[in-house]
Amino acid sequence: MKKILLMSTPVGPLGTGMGGGVELTIYNLCGELTARGYQYRVVAPKGSYLDNVDIIEVEGNLHTPAQTQRRDTPIIMPPNSVLANMWEVARQLESDYDVIVNFAFDWLPFYLTPFFSKPIAHFISMGSLSDGLDEIMGKIAAKYPNNLATYTKSQANTFPFGDKCQCLGSGIDLSLYQFQPTPQRKLAWLGRIAPEKALEDAVAAAKLAQIPLLIFGFIQDEEYWQKIQTQFSNAPFEYKGFLPTKELQAQLRDCMGVLMTPRWVEAFGNVVIEALACGVPVISYARGGPAEIIIDGKTGFLVTPDSVEGLVEAIKRLGEINRYDCRRLVEEKYSLEAWGKRFEEWLLRVYHTSQCPVS
Ligand code: UDP
Repeated sequence: MKKILLMSTPVGPLGTGMGGGVELTIYNLCGELTARGYQYRVVAPKGSYLDNVDIIEVEGNLHTPAQTQRRDTPIIMPPNSVLANMWEVARQLESDYDVIVNFAFDWLPFYLTPFFSKPIAHFISMGSLSDGLDEIMGKIAAKYPNNLATYTKSQANTFPFGDKCQCLGSGIDLSLYQFQPTPQRKLAWLGRIAPEKALEDAVAAAKLAQIPLLIFGFIQDEEYWQKIQTQFSNAPFEYKGFLPTKELQAQLRDCMGVLMTPRWVEAFGNVVIEALACGVPVISYARGGPAEIIIDGKTGFLVTPDSVEGLVEAIKRLGEINRYDCRRLVEEKYSLEAWGKRFEEWLLRVYHTSQCPVS
């Protein structure tokens, strides 16, 4: 195995934040593949840009993110679908590659898997959201039991075929995140601004605690964001924009804590390890990926899901956390090298086993 083709998400160009944490995952994988002596190219929607990453840009209409649909919504394909166009490129290039990695949380790449001659490894970036998608993923999991991977166990458990998923976790380049031992009196919230992230709970908690809240992230749902601004017009929050990692960590590290308020089963929560790497403890609802990462009382607090009061109580206890423990946890469990090794081992397994699918 020498050459890997990476197929990006069709919900937005890389580098815009529209794709959420999977953008960082793709970026990190490119660096790790190069460091490990592999050649790769990324196929992604037009307008994609990541530093030092070789991208083939593809025209076409973006796809609607699955989390904005109901579970029983039929699978949607826009006309001139960028996903279909990207996979046409994959079909033309596949003979030059050993393994194709799919990052789209979408029906088409799963459906196409048996029609390609090269193995397709599917990295699933969200928990279960669509009946139609679960069905096709389940069929591929049964036929190619090694080819599906998730970030975490809690994410895998949302799928009927969860026991077939390899859990790879995530990792970050620690050299990009500077440790800050002495925070200022402010909190942070990071992520895509969309209903499943429940930013309103963090704003409500900051208001009750009377501590300024800095908000970082791509505004995916403008109407939702307007509603929060109107509802909490007198709350102490400030929107800082969607920042590149360097600037993001420079502001994040000065905060006394991060609030993580997912209404859904968060697949991982890359922002959790980014905050911890700077020494910033994370207070999160006790569900999904963050609950697997945060050590309650040591690197942050896990509170009753959807409880704003729980957030406020935990904010009062932030001083109990040793910020060095936060950084240490990421050094020990979420280094880029350790994650890259797990990802490489998974791809090798896919490469060696996909020739003989379960019929
Ligand atoms: N992010 C960023 N700049 C910002 C705010 C967020 O680059 O100003 C990135 C952050 O680094 C993370 C992603 O946005 O990689 C959010 O991903 P996460 O896994 O937390 O959630 P998702 O959006 O995938 O549900």
